[in-house]
Amino acid sequence: MTKFIPYGRQCIDEDDIKAVVEVLRSDWITTGPAVDEFEEAVTEFVGAEYGVAVSSGTAALHAAMYAVSIAPGDEVIVPAMTFASTATAIVFRGGLPVFCDVDADKLLIDPNLIESKITPKTKAIVAVDYTGQACQYDVLREIADKNNLVLVADACHSIGGMYKGQKVGTLADVTAFSFHPVKHITTGEGGMIVTDNPEYYERMRMFRNHGVTLDQRQRAEKGQWFYEIEDIGYNYRITDIQCALGKSQLKKLPAWIKRRQEIALHYGASFRSLSAIKPLDVMPCSSHAYHLYVVKILDADRNEVFSFLRNAGIGVNVHYIPVHLHPFYRRCFGTKEGLCPVAEAAYKQILSLPMFPAMIDEDVDTVIQTVKKALVKNTQFLKLLFRRNTMGDNP
Ligand SMILES: *Cc1c(COP(=O)(O)O)cnc(C)c1O
Repeated sequence: MTKFIPYGRQCIDEDDIKAVVEVLRSDWITTGPAVDEFEEAVTEFVGAEYGVAVSSGTAALHAAMYAVSIAPGDEVIVPAMTFASTATAIVFRGGLPVFCDVDADKLLIDPNLIESKITPKTKAIVAVDYTGQACQYDVLREIADKNNLVLVADACHSIGGMYKGQKVGTLADVTAFSFHPVKHITTGEGGMIVTDNPEYYERMRMFRNHGVTLDQRQRAEKGQWFYEIEDIGYNYRITDIQCALGKSQLKKLPAWIKRRQEIALHYGASFRSLSAIKPLDVMPCSSHAYHLYVVKILDADRNEVFSFLRNAGIGVNVHYIPVHLHPFYRRCFGTKEGLCPVAEAAYKQILSLPMFPAMIDEDVDTVIQTVKKALVKNTQFLKLLFRRNTMGDNP
């Protein structure tokens, strides 16, 4: 059996395990000090004022939509090329996701198309830093300010990334992160929202804890039993066990991002001379965090290449089916093909190659060599088909 190389996976070391065990032996395993410590560590790392740790990236996006007061009937602009949660969080609040197309080379929300999507009901733009490259936040900020919209970042791919020297976490009014095991750092499941806005911060703290004004520990400290439900909230709390893991993981993030960038460089150099494969563009002003390494397969059938690679032990993947094409969105919002043609066309060509910091150089070389084999095999196959068709048409 050849070794299977997944598209992404976590790195857990003995320090991580020690940190978790320490919490298990302590007084607080949820709503305790490790939650605050993790929030402080992340906000310091990204340069934001406040952080609220929650149970997932999806919960983080939901809390962000609550913080900025998305209410039934409000419209929120989102890119079509993202994980469904970006739009689902809007739907959770009764809002209407308005899908905007992406640019063909980076697959980031196309700023030139946003203004045509704005109506009197539009409240916010959610930018998604797809694959780990931050969007053009200066342009987005200008559009948001001009139209009195809130700018939210779905930065589930881009913690540690930068745009024009400014860190992800400081580029939007509210920024959401995910700590799922395939993401840069993990808490098993988890997420965080960061902001500089104290009002958003207070709202999100309440939202994650049933809409209650004081949490368990604040009450314990005050020797007080009284609390009130101020608004409808959820149990989106994250445990101290998870936060201890997150805090330990965060220490390794800078080195891991460096490794991801190295792998990307290696991939890029190896594919440069091949016409059948095109990595996504990176803006020169961007420091890319490389959650994913996405290429477009140009002269071959993506599905054939996908199968060839999977059979050869390379855990390629497809990120993502454009959100508006999912049955739920078609059924409830009447979205269909043709709404975002660039994302739809890209969807048929994209492939995510393995990208995680524990990949050794040998793994990277194996991926490159196997991708080359897949392309040779499948481009020849297509050319053969093409010749046969032509002969059929002209007897
Ligand atoms: C992972 C991810 C999410 C959701 O995060 P979970 O922690 O899995 O809930 C949302 N948006 C994007 C772009 C993601 O990649």
